[in-house]
Amino acid sequence: MSDIIQLLPDAIANQIAAGEVVQRPASALKELLENAVDAGATQVQVVVKESGKQLIQVIDNGKGMSAIDARMSFERHATSKIRSSADLFSIRTFGFRGEALASIAAVAQVELKTRQAESELGTWIQIEGSEVKKQEPFAGNVGTSVSMKNLFYNVPARRNFLKSNSVEMRHIVDEFQRVALSYSEIGFSLFQQDLEVFNLMPGKLSQRIVGIFGKNYQGQLVPCEELTPHVNVKGYIGKPENAKKTRGEQFFFVNNRFIKSSYLNHAVSSAFEGLLQPDQHPFYVLFLEIDPTHIDINVHPTKTEIKFDDERTIYAVIRSAVKQALGAHHVVPSLDFSLDVNFNEKWDSDPEKKAQVDREYSYKSFNTPEFKQASTSGWEKLFEGTPQATRNSSRAVQPDETEILTFESRAKPDDANEFIPRPSVTESTGTTFQVELSYVVAQMSTGFLIIDQQTAHERILYERYLRQLKLAQGTSQQCLFPPTINLGPSDYALVMDIMPELHSLGFMVSEFGKDTVLIQGVPADIHVKNEKELFEGLLEQYKHFKSELSLDTRENLARSLARKSSLKKGQKLNSQEMETLVGHLFACQNPNYGLGGNKTFVKLDLSSIHSFFGK
Ligand code: ADP
Ligand code: MG
Repeated sequence: MSDIIQLLPDAIANQIAAGEVVQRPASALKELLENAVDAGATQVQVVVKESGKQLIQVIDNGKGMSAIDARMSFERHATSKIRSSADLFSIRTFGFRGEALASIAAVAQVELKTRQAESELGTWIQIEGSEVKKQEPFAGNVGTSVSMKNLFYNVPARRNFLKSNSVEMRHIVDEFQRVALSYSEIGFSLFQQDLEVFNLMPGKLSQRIVGIFGKNYQGQLVPCEELTPHVNVKGYIGKPENAKKTRGEQFFFVNNRFIKSSYLNHAVSSAFEGLLQPDQHPFYVLFLEIDPTHIDINVHPTKTEIKFDDERTIYAVIRSAVKQALGAHHVVPSLDFSLDVNFNEKWDSDPEKKAQVDREYSYKSFNTPEFKQASTSGWEKLFEGTPQATRNSSRAVQPDETEILTFESRAKPDDANEFIPRPSVTESTGTTFQVELSYVVAQMSTGFLIIDQQTAHERILYERYLRQLKLAQGTSQQCLFPPTINLGPSDYALVMDIMPELHSLGFMVSEFGKDTVLIQGVPADIHVKNEKELFEGLLEQYKHFKSELSLDTRENLARSLARKSSLKKGQKLNSQEMETLVGHLFACQNPNYGLGGNKTFVKLDLSSIHSFFGK
């Protein structure tokens, strides 16, 4: 039998390779844009017709090519960017496979015009289906223009697979945005038919983001930076209230190359824990700089996947960078309360110092007799003379919890006689007041804060419970009449699973026969008439979050218990409670947002108040 194996003709080999590189117009655009950037361009113009099916042209003012290089650039594995396999591990340029132009020329009609600064004449090449149709000198600008016309003109099956114009255009804009974001110092423009879609001036990253996504991103960007010996992270994240229901505005660049990584995306979203609704996705544009020897970008031809040799460290650095950025972006407390960074400590650790802290608030005088009267009248008089309940604490209540105790022991007026009344309130300073029994208004030296009491309290409790879970230091109060709860097999199994965490929070739960538990104690800072209801409600909330969000156990428990035990709207607060709420809120790591991502407070500056009156 005669030999049957033959080498494929180049044109066919190129067509096959093209399948990997050029799946759609946008993938060709990506390659052409990257070539322009690699060529050192400072200005890049893109012209698109019929969503790239008819034309994609990229014009750059980069270094251009010599006549021979221009011809060579269409050969497969022709590249000026690496010389040996060792270079593969130190890649800094976008391209390196030397496949793009060859692939594009295999499946489209391509025209290349290029000139180097040092030569008077440039080169003009026309090539179709890998076949050079024309090569001649031409007089034109320095730089390179590549036009790709009628993509897949010679592969009808693939042309038929292209999606509608709007879908293909969406892909084109995506690729354009990614490259434009990663090189804000380069000017980029994009024309569709003859309409200008983008015209991005060279500038800073923040300007580029606003240029691409619109002016309303201006106040929404929080800078994010973390420099470590292993990896540097820099960029911007969007404020939680700017989060979107769809993913998409999320960008990671590794050494300026756009990459997709659900693992690293998780690092960012987990740093937003507790700030977003489950279906919300934060905006971010983050650049990772890492020694190229620690990454392998040669995993996939379209190069959006990447392998790191130490993924876990990178995850940790990103998460911490985002957390810090969110934390550093506390607008109110340090500025308006003229508090120093030690505020947190002072408040939490030493109740003796509370008076001092109060002064530091620089509240102005709502200390009028009328105000005082308003704030101490009403339902709380109901409690005067009520005998104080005795509750056993299995462990001593810690100093900062005595403060909380008075605050959280409040009851709604209607439930008043069923709740355990707190000890009578000490002299209030009368510097805050409540609106609609839902908002707390606090005065500060530069205006007012309006705080959503429920959202704020959930935030405070959430952070506290999370801390208790981490340190396993929740305190417990014994139930006078420990209830037993029959849970059914699945809830019983769930409780067994999260038993250690429940203990950390201060729940004393033990097994009590088949599918049944005994609740001997509940967290000391929750004052509740019905421990069974609290526990069952907590489980319900936990299961709900578990099915809606994929939270880890601690995060879920902290959220669930905060939801369950927080102050609700409609609850009246006295001045001291309001001030405690304000104080605790601003001692939070993240005072600005509630668990669902809503704001906990808004600020009304004196300057805005002046402006109401035209001053
Ligand atoms: P790669 O970018 O992987 O090297 P390409 O097929 O994209 O492979 O390009 C082949 C070569 O052509 C590049 O290495 C480069 O030398 C040259 N080249 C391509 N586009 C340009 C351009 N816009 N300006 C200057 N040189 C270019
Ligand atoms: Mg290239």
